[in-house]
Amino acid sequence: MSGEVIRCKAAVAREAGKPLVIEEVEVAPPQKMEVRLKILFTSLCHTDVYFWEAKGQNPLFPRILGHEAGGIVESVGEGVTELKPGDKVLPIFTGECGECRHCNSEDSNMCDLLRINTDRGVMINDGKSRFSKDGQPIYHFLGTSTFSEYTVVHSGCVAKINPDAPLDKVCVLSCGISTGMGATLNVAKPKKGMSVAIFGLGAVGLAAAEGARIAGASRIIGIDLNPSRANEAKKFGVTEFVNPKDHDKPIHEVIAEMTDGGVDRSVECTGNVKAMISAFECVHDGWGVAVLVGVPNKDDEFKTLPINFLNERTLKGTFFGNYKPRTDIPGVVEKYMNKELEVEKFITHTVGFSEINKAFDYMLKGESLRCIIRMDA
Ligand code: NAD
Ligand code: ZN
Ligand code: ZN
Repeated sequence: MSGEVIRCKAAVAREAGKPLVIEEVEVAPPQKMEVRLKILFTSLCHTDVYFWEAKGQNPLFPRILGHEAGGIVESVGEGVTELKPGDKVLPIFTGECGECRHCNSEDSNMCDLLRINTDRGVMINDGKSRFSKDGQPIYHFLGTSTFSEYTVVHSGCVAKINPDAPLDKVCVLSCGISTGMGATLNVAKPKKGMSVAIFGLGAVGLAAAEGARIAGASRIIGIDLNPSRANEAKKFGVTEFVNPKDHDKPIHEVIAEMTDGGVDRSVECTGNVKAMISAFECVHDGWGVAVLVGVPNKDDEFKTLPINFLNERTLKGTFFGNYKPRTDIPGVVEKYMNKELEVEKFITHTVGFSEINKAFDYMLKGESLRCIIRMDA
């Protein structure tokens, strides 16, 4: 099929908030520096849901969503030397060109060329989409569009992983789990014995809690509005659960009381701007560090008193837990292979591709952490 158009099934988002429609689409061959992937497993992350709902984000339809996935390289475009057909890969929503100042910096994964761009619906090479139906283009999402049996991505957005890795498990490392774990280990960097607050106990937040456990945190305080997260959180090392609904006072005050003035580190994984502000205001003065991970609405503003910074608190944010996709993710997969990292406990549901809309229901009802979507069913 190399060089030819592939006809295959894709779940197309045609309208904001309306169920995805499984359609036969055409997927053009990969162009310069691109690869075409056969997706075997994908899963749903809350970021897909935001852009599908398009309430706080710019609408762009019709679009093929999906960015957490595992697959196999089907064919490669001109100039691609590091990947070949048959390679086992994870597509990543933010890329690594390997040459820019960011790629050369130890501190950044914000590649000048391939960093996350939520509003672009086309390939950067020629400004066109590789997906179409009846000659009409369908937009890409995050450069990955994994809710399709085949997709085209830039080769710099592909992590080549251990050929023995089970894709139905490690696909969740292509966004949520790596993001949460990296937010704690690479950005918040708690020292052994520190206290860590995690806002939002979905898969991303629970992976952040896992990071805190690995770092040797003494207390891991989980905060969520969904009471059913309390039980789940215990499996992820969360030592105390706080539901803001159970308290009359602001949640940062509740946490300050629990911790003699504030936590040492906090990681926000909700996407709610009020929770982001609380996550900052609940860290201890003098040394506290807060890390924002949740994707806010495009017009949200973060308001806090400057004195909170003068009192020596630090606020940071991250995409993809500061991991460099091509350099670091194969090693994260190895941690799973060596049993240093468990991903099974994040996988609460599995559905066939034809039932993909169920994955949205599970997430919206707060029932699932990760729902794996099998492309062959
Ligand atoms: P999820 O829906 O599974 O989990 C979010 C959790 O936050 C839920 O349990 C929900 O009850 C809780 N929550 C919502 N509002 C809250 C509030 N005000 N206070 C306390 N808890 C609240 O979602 P997820 O897939 O785990 O993603 C979490 C967030 O991380 C989303 O905003 C997503 O877009 C973002 N994300 C960011 C990156 C990145 O690179 N920065 C990567 C992946 C996901
Ligand atoms: Zn994601
Ligand atoms: Zn780069």
